[in-house]
Amino acid sequence: MLGGGQLGRMLALAGYPLGLDFRFLDPAPDAPAGCLAEHIIGDYSDVDVLSRFASGLDVITYEFENVPVDSARLLSKLTSIYPPPQALEMAQDRLVEKSFFTRLSIPTPDFAQVDTRSGLGVALSSIGLPAVLKTRRFGYDGKGQFLLREPGDVEQAWEALGGRPLILERLVPFDRELSVIAVRARSGEMAFYPIVENHHSEGILRLSLAPALELALTMQSAAEEYARRVLNALDYVGVLAIELFQVGGELIANEMAPRVHNSGHWTIEGAATSQFESHLRAIVGLPLGATTAVGFSAMLNIIGELPDTRAVLAVPDAHLHLYSKTPRPGRKLGHITLRASDLETLKRGVEQLRIAMPSPLS
Ligand code: AMP
Repeated sequence: MLGGGQLGRMLALAGYPLGLDFRFLDPAPDAPAGCLAEHIIGDYSDVDVLSRFASGLDVITYEFENVPVDSARLLSKLTSIYPPPQALEMAQDRLVEKSFFTRLSIPTPDFAQVDTRSGLGVALSSIGLPAVLKTRRFGYDGKGQFLLREPGDVEQAWEALGGRPLILERLVPFDRELSVIAVRARSGEMAFYPIVENHHSEGILRLSLAPALELALTMQSAAEEYARRVLNALDYVGVLAIELFQVGGELIANEMAPRVHNSGHWTIEGAATSQFESHLRAIVGLPLGATTAVGFSAMLNIIGELPDTRAVLAVPDAHLHLYSKTPRPGRKLGHITLRASDLETLKRGVEQLRIAMPSPLS
């Protein structure tokens, strides 16, 4: 596995019962997955490190989308690597990604390429205001973005982000944010989890509700159809997440992640097969499991500060997952999944957990 963060850690935890063994490559000596398996500490672009890492492996996967594409391609010559490196290429650049969605007739916010200050003016005349200016690469958790509400914001936006390849997007007046997690096996078999509703604050996911509340069946099938197009177009193997905006009865794709996703953590306790197990089954060539939800789930991220374990576990059917990370403001340290057989109980449990959490959840 390229990357030994919390996603790698949860993948390994799901993989041992299936009889799988792991080796991680991660430059951080204290990577959260390091305590679970062999951990090679090295650079993702170092050819010698890559060949040492790949030696004797049956299959390679990754847990973050900024894996250098050249490294993934190099590794693909040594052994199987899933998802395909082309999926990394699509997901690493917002312009490439949104052009890809458009080619597949998947609705996405109106967008325009921006490389120069004058180019920003041209883009604004076609996209209009309000809009979001974003770096094309290496943006995550709302970083590398600037919201433009009025013409007076333009200079400041350019000052903040100019000089890098950018994309201007129409600001979508969404009702809520959703995501769909899909999996495709080596055989081409596909499965889809119920759509999840996501709540962010300061650009970071705080709370997911699964399945999304009061969601029309037509939306589930539209999301599945969009995911199916992406999976088939890339001859994809593994778990894929697509983040969506809901506007009325319509879904608009914001971005995709070629990996297991934070909005799928609830599946560990809340679905028949977790997203982590699904990903592993797919990449090693096993049959996929059922992706149905077991009741209702809420997933709360633990960010910046650790909660009181006792208070969390005192909430009925609350499950704590800590990632062995040193607390730091804005850092994802763990998550809690709360499961309930009805919505009322779920809501009550979420309120109890909010009290147990150190920082207020929005
Ligand atoms: P991203 O890094 O693209 O996932 O954006 C982070 C967050 O910014 C999203 O979860 C949305 O809340 C918001 N956002 C990003 N792009 C748009 C857009 N085009 N319209 C409305 N909100 C957006």
